[in-house]
Amino acid sequence: MTKNFFKYIIITLISYIIFTINIKTTAQQDILEIRKNYLEDKITNINEIENLEFQTEEENIIKNLTLFEFYIDKKSIEQALQYAKYLNSFFPINQLVNYRLAEYYYNLKNYEEAVKYSEECVKNDSRFHEARNLLANTYYILKDYQKALKHYKVLSWFKSDKEITTKLEYLSSQLGYNITTNGQKTINFSKIYTSTLTTNSPYIKVGISTKDNGKLIKIDAVKFYFSDDFEIYDDKNKKVIFCKGGIDNEWTILYRTQQKFFGIILNNEKNKELKIKSQYITIKPLSENSTFIIKEYKWFKSSFAVNKEFRGEIIVKHLKDQIVVINNIKIDEYLYSVVAKEIGKDKPQEALKAQAVVARTVALYRKNNNFHKYFDVCCGQHCQVYDAIKSETEQTINAVNKTIGEIVTHNDKIIHAFFHANCGGITSSAEKFFSNKEYLQPTYDIIKEESHTETQNYEIKNFYYWYLTPPKLLCKDSSFVHPGVSRWLRVIKKDELKKFLNSKLATVGKLKDIIIVSREDNGYIKKIKVVGSYKTITLNKEHKIRNIVASSLKSSSFIIEYNKNNDCYYFWGAGWGHGIGMCQSGACGLAEQQKSYKEIIQHYFKNTEIKKLY
Ligand SMILES: [Zn+2]
Ligand SMILES: [Zn+2]
Repeated sequence: MTKNFFKYIIITLISYIIFTINIKTTAQQDILEIRKNYLEDKITNINEIENLEFQTEEENIIKNLTLFEFYIDKKSIEQALQYAKYLNSFFPINQLVNYRLAEYYYNLKNYEEAVKYSEECVKNDSRFHEARNLLANTYYILKDYQKALKHYKVLSWFKSDKEITTKLEYLSSQLGYNITTNGQKTINFSKIYTSTLTTNSPYIKVGISTKDNGKLIKIDAVKFYFSDDFEIYDDKNKKVIFCKGGIDNEWTILYRTQQKFFGIILNNEKNKELKIKSQYITIKPLSENSTFIIKEYKWFKSSFAVNKEFRGEIIVKHLKDQIVVINNIKIDEYLYSVVAKEIGKDKPQEALKAQAVVARTVALYRKNNNFHKYFDVCCGQHCQVYDAIKSETEQTINAVNKTIGEIVTHNDKIIHAFFHANCGGITSSAEKFFSNKEYLQPTYDIIKEESHTETQNYEIKNFYYWYLTPPKLLCKDSSFVHPGVSRWLRVIKKDELKKFLNSKLATVGKLKDIIIVSREDNGYIKKIKVVGSYKTITLNKEHKIRNIVASSLKSSSFIIEYNKNNDCYYFWGAGWGHGIGMCQSGACGLAEQQKSYKEIIQHYFKNTEIKKLY
């Protein structure tokens, strides 16, 4: 009896020791290692993971995400939903959870649930194209054609896809209107704000017949009307003709390529054509408050509707076989619109003021350094987005007027300023664009938990957590910042990615791996390798790295996961744009912390001064 009892005690003790050792070894397991094994389909016993306890919230989030994916891959929806509930408030992880649930219900033909989850993804991030595609397909099946059309349209802006085009054509025929019609409407003039503050503003020439990338749109004629009477001058500044203003007086200027002259269509004289031989012509209104509306551009027989109202003058230049239309405008009146287009009108006033000063600096720097051949700046993202009068608001006009004439300088010289939507937490140096500049150094938009102020330095210890469970950031945790701007996710089927890379990049053959070779300290990728069965390609240019998928990634700062169980690549990213100079989301975060526009500018541009030019 006693003997047996001792035996029992010893066995219990030994098994207890073994058990504790076991617990200890499993508890020390690395959740990232476990996730990696799961993604490679190497996990056999899921119970082992469920029982693990981790020290940090980050680790437990990754554990729950892995378990969620395990169950959704096994189609055990009850268990999957339990983990989904826990993960619901963690962005960007909830994007993957909601996307996978949407997909699950879509495949089950439970379309109401599929809509619910994919709508959530798109609401959080308008550029989560895969979720939008799923949403559009679901509405299409549900025969909600209005909504399907809306989402397919957005998708078509970012990539040309035969399937989407076919659906767009079908939907517009079902809904009874043609999506390719040019607007023939005539818009009326608005009352514009003018101020004596801009009396000394220098003029800037803005190319307005340009594409988003700064290249020229091929046109040979422009149709417009002025609110007031105006005059046309040739390149010797000689007046050519006086013209009537008003909404009923449409004017056309065209360029006769063969005969090499400008033609002005005299609409009051039975469309007679007045010929001018000149390198360019300038169209000047007779009143300060006059505006003009560009109705359309033409290229031979086809025309493109514009219907946009501008301040200032028009300059029309001719090249060999086309014309360039330029808006000659006071720089500050140009900024009324740019500030709204670039940062958004509903942002805090100090952030708008910082944007006004930086945008003025960008424009003048480009003007002084001849960035474009025929004008100072284009109207697209290539320089700064300019949408003329319709974007102006009281807030942006105020921000420009309160900083009138101010620019950012370094050693008394105007700086080569940059800005971008969101840096993801740490900005980049200018190294990747050109040799380094002292005033363009990494800036930390990270909030110290204890003091709630920004920190001066920070080391990313683990990129995985940086992207999936980021720390508190000025450019993330501000009420002015939309979640999908700071962190984002794209989910791309391996097969689709293979097709895209083979058609757009090079014949790589079967896609075997994508390897990140090197990064900047802030996570932005410097070099990436696409390994194919036929060829391996190395990419090291920012725009090439972002274009590794169809309808490009928001930034070159990301990690990649490949889930063997559903054959998908996950791109987990941070930030939006090149990451150099002022982070617009961070500017809003700083303004929210009561920082002035000068402090905001000095946060992003080190050792600089703000000077008043006029
Ligand atoms: Zn440009
Ligand atoms: Zn930032």
